[in-house]
Amino acid sequence: MAERRLDCDVAVVGAGPAGLSAARAAASAGARVVLLDPQPRPGGQVWRNDVMHGMPARSLALQAALRASPDTTLLMRSEAVAAMKGTLFVHVDGDAVELHHAALVLATGARELLLPFPGWTLPGVTGAGGAQALAKQGWPLRGKRVLLAGTGPLLLAAGNTLRAHGAQVLAILEQAPLAEVAAFAAGLWRWPGKARQAAAIRAALWRTPYRCNSHVLRAFGEDRLRAVQVSLDGAIETVECDQLACGFGLVPNVELAQSLGCELAYDGAHPRVMVDDWQRSSVEGVLAAGEACGIGGLDCAEVEGAIAGHVAVAALDAARALWPRRRRARRFAADLQRRFALGDHVRALADDDTILCRCEDVPLSAIPEHMQGREAKLATRCGMGACQGRVCGTALAELRRVRRGGLRPPVFPVSLEVLAGFGQDDPANPSPGVAK
Ligand SMILES: Cc1cc2nc3c(=O)[nH]c(=O)nc-3n(C[C@H](O)[C@H](O)[C@H](O)COP(=O)(O)OP(=O)(O)OC[C@H]3O[C@@H](n4cnc5c(N)ncnc54)[C@H](O)[C@@H]3O)c2cc1C
Repeated sequence: MAERRLDCDVAVVGAGPAGLSAARAAASAGARVVLLDPQPRPGGQVWRNDVMHGMPARSLALQAALRASPDTTLLMRSEAVAAMKGTLFVHVDGDAVELHHAALVLATGARELLLPFPGWTLPGVTGAGGAQALAKQGWPLRGKRVLLAGTGPLLLAAGNTLRAHGAQVLAILEQAPLAEVAAFAAGLWRWPGKARQAAAIRAALWRTPYRCNSHVLRAFGEDRLRAVQVSLDGAIETVECDQLACGFGLVPNVELAQSLGCELAYDGAHPRVMVDDWQRSSVEGVLAAGEACGIGGLDCAEVEGAIAGHVAVAALDAARALWPRRRRARRFAADLQRRFALGDHVRALADDDTILCRCEDVPLSAIPEHMQGREAKLATRCGMGACQGRVCGTALAELRRVRRGGLRPPVFPVSLEVLAGFGQDDPANPSPGVAK
């Protein structure tokens, strides 16, 4: 990439459903749009390209519309590592690029919440969404015995993907009580599309037991996972398996918004970007959409992205027309969050010897309770590794052990060479994180 500087009307960070919809809405008004994402192809989490089954038609249609729009640039393999008012600092495949914009839409999505339990760092134990992503990217699963555990419909979606890639899905363990899951299912008639989707997935997994009030206790194995001890509605059993995929929910990615000074709100232990009816954050010119504004799923992401894209180009009537759709999508999300709320028992699975920070090998016992995230880093090195606390810091916050701190830019690890490349075309404009 030759240019070190790009200019546009609307910059969109994240090419998931929210970002694609935002870019499409802004481009339809003739704006110059730049959409960026670290993945090789657009789609985000739910529309990730599947090497065996391709991408959903809806994602392909959005991408085709963007590629046909002459003033839209898709920057893949590109991540925003820092931001200042009007400028994003983007790492593009080894190069430093400054993206100057009039409006910014943050559609940075969510990551999985991974909760610790004895054995959770063994090879063979992954997140449920992580296992799904690996399968879509061609990870060999044929004949592997996989157990899924945790909470929420993502377990079913992931189980279905793993099955479609040849895995033998032994069981799905849902921590929520049967009464909550049944009440959720009984209310699905209000969202017929979701009901059809749920029925289709359950039918595809008809051989797979789905056990409520059940959860993992510990994983066993020397060099890799061999077996998992589980609680099945109170009865303790050991299940031999090759893979364990655990999904305890999702957590919004707010680091870039936080570094811009956007106000955050807390859902339990985890922050989300606060937005108004127009998807505007508290910082002028910065909008946010999708999971970054609170876990809501695909429908929320699409409609909020479209609203943000319209608002970014001042197409307020088009944005307002989408409010009822957003209300409906958020209602579904709220019901889902309530019914699949985590029980305290799954926050208490780790023992003192359980490794909390796998990057720095820090056990739970080394981390005193009620610390700030930064203190925990300084005192124990917990959160100092490659994930920068995205896994351990998030888990500790969920365990109510450490209060989550903000991340300093760069929000993703980046080489000093790239970091030093920022600001080189404009000496008045300092590079983020590099003293001049
Ligand atoms: C691992 C995982 C698997 C999931 N699987 C399913 C599923 O099967 N079915 C389902 O209904 N829902 C699934 N979800 C839920 C999913 O989050 C939503 O359904 C939907 O993808 C949300 O869309 P979004 O655009 O808000 O976020 P996402 O789809 O997460 O897209 C956000 C994008 O932002 C990019 N990004 C983040 N930070 C930066 C940055 N600094 N610079 C550049 N780009 C950045 C990310 O790479 C990502 O592509 C999954 C979630 C996760 C975390």
